[in-house]
Amino acid sequence: MAGVEVLGEAQQAAWRARTLPPVERLAGGLVSVAVPIPDNPLRYTLTYLVPGDHGLIVVDPGWDSDVGWNALRAGLAVAGARLGDVTGIVLTHVHPDHHGLTGRLRRASGAWVAMHPAERASLVRDQHTGAREGLARWLRTFHAPEAEISHLLSTFGAEADRHLAPLTDADVLLEDGDLVPLAGRRLRAVWTPGHTPGHLCLLEPDARLLLTGDHLLPRISPNVGLQLDGDDTALSRYLDSLAKLAEYDWCAALPAHEYRFRGIAARAAELTGHHRQRCAEILETVDRLGTPTMWELAASLSWSRPWDQIGPMKVGAVAETAAHVDLLVAAGELARRSGTVVPRASAGR
Ligand SMILES: [Zn+2]
Ligand SMILES: [Zn+2]
Repeated sequence: MAGVEVLGEAQQAAWRARTLPPVERLAGGLVSVAVPIPDNPLRYTLTYLVPGDHGLIVVDPGWDSDVGWNALRAGLAVAGARLGDVTGIVLTHVHPDHHGLTGRLRRASGAWVAMHPAERASLVRDQHTGAREGLARWLRTFHAPEAEISHLLSTFGAEADRHLAPLTDADVLLEDGDLVPLAGRRLRAVWTPGHTPGHLCLLEPDARLLLTGDHLLPRISPNVGLQLDGDDTALSRYLDSLAKLAEYDWCAALPAHEYRFRGIAARAAELTGHHRQRCAEILETVDRLGTPTMWELAASLSWSRPWDQIGPMKVGAVAETAAHVDLLVAAGELARRSGTVVPRASAGR
């Protein structure tokens, strides 16, 4: 892809070979550790160890499993650290492939846990919603057929339970621009809502690094809109957060999946273009279908696989579709009427 240069060559080779990348020492003394996600196509989360004068910070401890825990401990050993040296845990966001191991790491180390206030709010709210029940209700608002809903609950339900399981609360809240409490190191929170409401990137200006979490990945287009809470601004906030990243083009990107790269502005522009193209496809498809339900619209769009082979990822697909429709509604190009999508021109009829 134009303007994007792969920096993590060992990581890219591992990604392609479907193996686990090695622990690597990076600029500024940071250490990258691949923490496995068993039985998941994402395969691993890239956890970063950020040393300070006394102890170190762990960014995104990874998915909760014994094999992941052992990988994290092996990474600490390479960094010359023990569990007791971990003074803080910073979350880019609370998805379980990032936040899963936080509780175990906090218990073992006594470290504090930091995240953005909007992320903490989503954590508290999710604990009060029955995951499967919430998912079923949400799918019904899109007129998903009942047979599809029960099939998705049987295949995605366990995933939803994990996704919304009670996870470790925050001790420290990081607002946009705040410095992470770590002596001898500047590490600044950059709020990039969209993938989740309180997603943070982390800037290490002296080593010219930006930890991009799931906001900016080199190849994958991060999921937007999978909040189950009717947030109709997720995609517009995501696009604003992509635009915000252009000013960090002087940094190397340290993402939470896949591999390190350079070309933050180019990759952000590419993802923006992808979403604009998707909006154009949706406008054409709504015109062609008349007044489709959200489910029918999602099923009529082009995906990397035919719709009937997407499986449980239909949940993410319909969420993405709704996020784009909401953006087009806000722009006055479409309207939503009781679970259906109508061209603005005929919305009054
Ligand atoms: Zn995520
Ligand atoms: Zn992730």
